[in-house]
Amino acid sequence: MPIPPNTIGVDLGGTWLRVARVTVEQGRVAEMERAATDVVGGPEGVLAQMQGMIDRLRDGGTLGLGVCIPGTFDVESGVVLGLAALPGWTGFPLAARLSDHTMLSCRLENDAKAAAIGEWEAGAAIGFQNFVYVTVSTGIGACAVVDGRLLRGVGGLAGEIGHTQVVETSERCACGRHGCWQVLAAGPALARRAEAAARSSPSSLLATLGLAARLSGVEVERAARAGDAVALSVVREHASMLGIGFVNLQHVYAPELIVVGGGVSNLLDLMRPHLGAVLQDQLLPGFKPAEIRASAFGDIAGLVGAAAVARNFAMSVARVTH
Ligand SMILES: [Zn+2]
Repeated sequence: MPIPPNTIGVDLGGTWLRVARVTVEQGRVAEMERAATDVVGGPEGVLAQMQGMIDRLRDGGTLGLGVCIPGTFDVESGVVLGLAALPGWTGFPLAARLSDHTMLSCRLENDAKAAAIGEWEAGAAIGFQNFVYVTVSTGIGACAVVDGRLLRGVGGLAGEIGHTQVVETSERCACGRHGCWQVLAAGPALARRAEAAARSSPSSLLATLGLAARLSGVEVERAARAGDAVALSVVREHASMLGIGFVNLQHVYAPELIVVGGGVSNLLDLMRPHLGAVLQDQLLPGFKPAEIRASAFGDIAGLVGAAAVARNFAMSVARVTH
């Protein structure tokens, strides 16, 4: 049997490095490896990790590589310009180094944009011309597709919706300012909200799950699904904060669909009625609340998208040369 054509997707995260072989035909992950990112080893350490994983996963059908990174890069040269979670990468020629090692083409993509591409081509947003992918985890990032075009902006910087200011005062954001949407609606905000609720209702199930350890979305989900009223009110409060940003996204991009990824999306079915109510209540006349779907790929959306970027590039080269 012939080896099915495939591309290798790489997802460089601040915590995990993931590499997968993805089939060209169905966009299916055939095989995947994961390792803790060698943050201390810097670009050379991580490059060695990537090369080892790629060498094990690639086969005779591999057409190219796609790498998604949590930051910015030069599109033509594949040089990293800056990664928020990983120090020491500015100026590193990642695409060229991987290409030299593997003798395959290598394209870079930003992680939120790669995830949107993954959802668009093979996941929750297939067939949509107007949607926004939002990832809600430690921070909030987004990528909008408007009239069938993925919006990049100068330097590929479009989509930093997490740092739009929605209130005047709050805890300080990672960016140094106050009042950013992500301070109110990302994963750490959910944890803070849960801890405050558990402190004021010490007999709640939520509090019993979290008295010994810090609370996170995992405990909130467990208690909420068990019907704990305190956890359900945390979910409702969090949904209203998330909804503020969704209203902004709808007013700016007018999507028909919002795809939600990141850890907080595990609570999406519980939050959806509240999110829907916020949209219904706050959207301008003429706007219809967007459908809200969870990411089809969860935390591997970026990986699948990176493989799709590699496939699209390999196809475009094949079209030019044939
Ligand atoms: Zn900020």
